[in-house]
Amino acid sequence: MSAPHVFSLEGHTALITGGGSGIGLATAHALAAGGAKVILGGRREKELNDAVAAIGAAASAQVMDVTDTAAMPALAAALREKHGPISILVNNAGINLKKPFVDTAESELLGILQTNVIGAMALTRAVHPQLKESGQGSVVFISSMAALFGIPWVSAYSISKSALTGAVRTLSLEFGADNIRVNAVAPGWIDTAMSRKAFASDPARKEKILSRTPLGVLGDTSDIGWSVAYLCSPAAKFVTGAILPVDGGASIGF
Ligand code: NDP
Repeated sequence: MSAPHVFSLEGHTALITGGGSGIGLATAHALAAGGAKVILGGRREKELNDAVAAIGAAASAQVMDVTDTAAMPALAAALREKHGPISILVNNAGINLKKPFVDTAESELLGILQTNVIGAMALTRAVHPQLKESGQGSVVFISSMAALFGIPWVSAYSISKSALTGAVRTLSLEFGADNIRVNAVAPGWIDTAMSRKAFASDPARKEKILSRTPLGVLGDTSDIGWSVAYLCSPAAKFVTGAILPVDGGASIGF
């Protein structure tokens, strides 16, 4: 297989949760560039429609809320009807909470887990028959540095992203016989509207991050998108159960 073909996603249909913004949108662009049809999921219709317009004919929008877990089987069936079997599921939708652990209420912890973990599991379960049917299924979770080492004030988020590590390991074993690969990307610090705002009020934090990042810069959302495209491509056909840090080296050491 020649180099371009080994990265080709022709014939794939991908569902990307949180595909209307940030890392999910960059991932949708990358998968579409590889030749996949992309379905962008999220709660805000206008944002999804704007994203679809930016990507072009390969893209479509699906208004959905991953916390509505009871709706997932019917949603998956409707998407199967409209687009054929989904062969790539990117569980990217996520929310964060910055608070000391002792001030984090049980309801707040549950809220984070509901979106970042329970919603992703319900959707994965609902889409599983289609991943199997495709014969070339791939699930990618978007994890975080907060699953690789301790970061203060984000315990609920860190707990949720650490749970995804268990999901990657277990599901890669359970799904392997059906040639469904299950991996995660752990983004480092990425230049987004959210991080720009956070750094504006806390320049020391940005300095600390850059000083421990061997490449000395923040990442772009497209860096995450391309890594997901790789994991879903034939180039990664022997890669499953992996958690790939895409972080400029931030997680590698001292
Ligand atoms: P955004 O806030 O831009 O993206 C989050 C996306 O998730 C939005 O498109 C949002 O759309 C969607 N979403 C949130 N809740 C739900 C829900 N209940 N149902 C469906 N969709 C939902 O931030 P990022 O792009 O930065 O984050 C994307 C992922 O990357 C997250 O999982 C985050 O934890 C992870 N990450 C981000 C890093 C960064 O530096 N930015 C670093 C490490 C990990 P809508 O509100 O319309 O539903």
